Amino acid sequence: MTQYKVAIVGAGPAGYFAAQALQNAQSDERTFAIDMIERLPTPWGLVRSGVAPDHPKIKTVSKVFEKIATAGNFRLFGNIELGTDIQLSEIQAKYDAVIIATGTSLGRKLGIPGEELAGYLSAADFVPWYNAHPDYTAVNVPLDTDTAVVIGAGNVAMDVARMLALDPSELDPTDTAEHAIAELKKSNIRKVYICARRGAEHAAFTSPELRDLPKLEHTNVIIHKSDIDAAITAAGDTPEKDVKNNLDAMLAIAEHEKTNHARTMEFLFHHVPTEIKGTAGVQEVVFKTPNGEKTIKCGLVISAIGYEAHPLDGITYEKGKVVNNEGRVKENIYVVGWAKRGPSGVIGTNKSDAAAVIELLISDLQTPKNSGDINDLISAHKVITQTHWEAINTAEVSSGEPLGKPRVKVVDKSELLRLGGL
Ligand code: NAP
Repeated sequence: MTQYKVAIVGAGPAGYFAAQALQNAQSDERTFAIDMIERLPTPWGLVRSGVAPDHPKIKTVSKVFEKIATAGNFRLFGNIELGTDIQLSEIQAKYDAVIIATGTSLGRKLGIPGEELAGYLSAADFVPWYNAHPDYTAVNVPLDTDTAVVIGAGNVAMDVARMLALDPSELDPTDTAEHAIAELKKSNIRKVYICARRGAEHAAFTSPELRDLPKLEHTNVIIHKSDIDAAITAAGDTPEKDVKNNLDAMLAIAEHEKTNHARTMEFLFHHVPTEIKGTAGVQEVVFKTPNGEKTIKCGLVISAIGYEAHPLDGITYEKGKVVNNEGRVKENIYVVGWAKRGPSGVIGTNKSDAAAVIELLISDLQTPKNSGDINDLISAHKVITQTHWEAINTAEVSSGEPLGKPRVKVVDKSELLRLGGL
């Protein structure tokens, strides 16, 4: 029996699915000792700090993660940051393989004038703010305006627009950050535009998310039928299945009876942003449209146009991703998930992606290293182990129970460590 040591950096979906693929590849001849390193005191990555809180079903995948974490041969090392607390080269020397699963946490830039203005932010900052990520509590989200503009036509843009346009009382039974619920309850925003630069036939939304929109109880969702008719024509007689499903879902919204709700979410297509204008802060966005230039007055602009990886020392990046060959990076380093392929696909996409990389990793394995492990590098550090995390998890879930919430997330890192028993 040969045991190999594998370090996974990043405790998000891609990291857990890589661990699962390693567990599934164990045999009578080969086992893996898996150490997962995470810079936050809490695991689960985007399932905790990305998935919209009003979509709790998507988060049930965390049960799979916990099963992986407790299946044996798995240790969590939370509150340990690669590049700060430990170095990649040190981990590389101690493990047979290192898997980078650190995702893409930086918002892509629009590259137009005005992005520096207060009141312009990226979904990469807004989403973790409402999801109680400890590093994003201080994000300034001006909600004292009647109109917000969301740029992008993907599911993140839809999440962002929905969070701004729904009645905040709908967030009471969710695990939205307490600070965000408080701010959203004071919000003056009543009109949210979601602006796509191309036609509806090119939108990156997925149809289940579109079909959920008419279920919003206090928000009027507006899609212009003329936009969808034009998109149906442009898509031709044999559109791809996803495009057809999307257009069907959008047509249903367009034909849905309008309500008198004070809050509105309106989709605009063929709106290419060219400039964000304002003096002290955002005042308007200028768009190029098929009918000429158009300006929308607003006090908040959020772009949701994709993400790029936050670079790690010792790793080469190109176009926001780790340079890799089907997951092989260099030497004994591999990459999975969004850091590997860019920000695309749903959580489950990471399962097959990770399994394919683990196959390559296994085919590369050589004589196992006998050189200790991460514990030799972090002796003085406060580590959140699986047991500590389970204590945090139980505490959060318990404080949510009397409030009818799945949990109340703790945002303060030292409080998280205290709840963990450290
Ligand atoms: P995405 O699906 O790639 O959408 C990005 C959008 O930004 C596209 O509409 C793109 O338009 C637009 N865009 C890019 N550059 C632009 C620019 N310079 N100006 C204006 N628009 C621009 O990315 P995402 O929304 O960040 O989502 C990432 C992944 O997570 C997706 O696979 C998504 O489905 C998934 N996700 C899933 C869920 C869910 O299942 N509920 C929730 C959230 C996210 P073009 O097509 O014209 O480039």
